[in-house]
Amino acid sequence: MTFPVQVTAGKLFNALEGVVYLTNPDGTILAVGDQGWTRFAVDNGASGLTSDSVIGMSIFTALAGEPVVDAYRRLHAAVVSGRRAEITFEYRCDSPIAERLMRMSITGITGDTAVVAVLYQSQMLSEVARPAIRLFARNTKAARKHPEEAEQPVPLCSFCQRLLWRPREGGRSARWIAAAEFVQAGGDADTTLVETICQECADQVVAPNV
Ligand SMILES: [Zn+2]
Repeated sequence: MTFPVQVTAGKLFNALEGVVYLTNPDGTILAVGDQGWTRFAVDNGASGLTSDSVIGMSIFTALAGEPVVDAYRRLHAAVVSGRRAEITFEYRCDSPIAERLMRMSITGITGDTAVVAVLYQSQMLSEVARPAIRLFARNTKAARKHPEEAEQPVPLCSFCQRLLWRPREGGRSARWIAAAEFVQAGGDADTTLVETICQECADQVVAPNV
């Protein structure tokens, strides 16, 4: 059986749910399902990043935060090496007005002997509207403060979207809390966030898969 020639990788990926892209073993993007990609980019305030413009880019340059890049490099390497045929995990990718639970799958596509490409598919499992939290309006808060007024950036876990709360009063240690709780506790909704991975996600998402 042969495929009709019109069935390109891009069209096939469009038929799949969510954001779907294929990379080569070093992480360079080879093909993207443009419908899912465009929706994702618009939702995340990156509508300038069209699906055509990301082909040839490394998936790792699209990620923010050194520990996050490192986590994805390790997951990708586990699939490329064949140690893991497929890795799946749930993660959060909130927008200012909704909590979104996502499921990522990273699958190796094997040639005659080795993994020749890696398929990424990110699907939304649920989206629950909530009162707007400015913290997640990524592109609107840049440069709101003068640099001299800038506080220490608050770490945000890219996987669970919790923030590291560092209470000013002594005796209580820092802990990872949800954004709504952060704002309730007196956290600055305009604070600068720095993307990272919390210990719990490092232990539960990354460690078992690499
Ligand atoms: Zn986390």
